Amino acid sequence: MNLSEPYLPAGRKEILEIFENTGALLRGHFLLTSGHHSNVYFQCAKVLQYPEYAEKICGLISDHYHSTEIDTVIAPAIGGIIVGQEVARQLNKRSIFAEREDKTLSLRRGFSLEKGEKVLVCEDVVTTGGSVFEVIDIVKNYGAEVVGVGYIVDRSNGKVNFSYPQFSTIKLDAISFSQEECPLCKEGIELVKPGSRKIKI
Ligand code: ZN
Repeated sequence: MNLSEPYLPAGRKEILEIFENTGALLRGHFLLTSGHHSNVYFQCAKVLQYPEYAEKICGLISDHYHSTEIDTVIAPAIGGIIVGQEVARQLNKRSIFAEREDKTLSLRRGFSLEKGEKVLVCEDVVTTGGSVFEVIDIVKNYGAEVVGVGYIVDRSNGKVNFSYPQFSTIKLDAISFSQEECPLCKEGIELVKPGSRKIKI
């Protein structure tokens, strides 16, 4: 069984500890909404509920882009809002978000972008990158310019390429198994559905 440890660049150990201490990163045997099983469950909101941790972790994104020319930070709702707001606060830039209406992300609430405006896209977790790709399209449709993408956790297993500079504070490979192939089931480890009572199979 290869349940590889998350990729951990130097200096990122503290982030992993914060994730574990806040319960954002759980290790065990989990039933995912997809029906697959995993040895890791991650819920970014659990760490972002603490502003001091949001400041520290989002600080890695703002540090990374501090010398990039940025006018505005944009994020997809809901998960990305706190990240975008905190990164924008640290960079002292405007912060806006796109939200889903009829399944499509768009700018509402009077938010807008100007032609040529330089925009940093922020998100909490990237798995397939779908929401970020949608936000990139919004920025381009306004004639504004994407200068980079910053996100806290890369769960894409290295597969997502936004075609712009991209930076994640940590990579946590998403490993999941069908029930039939799950090594944790074979070991008889109790299956847990995150966010609910423990269930047994
Ligand atoms: Zn299992």
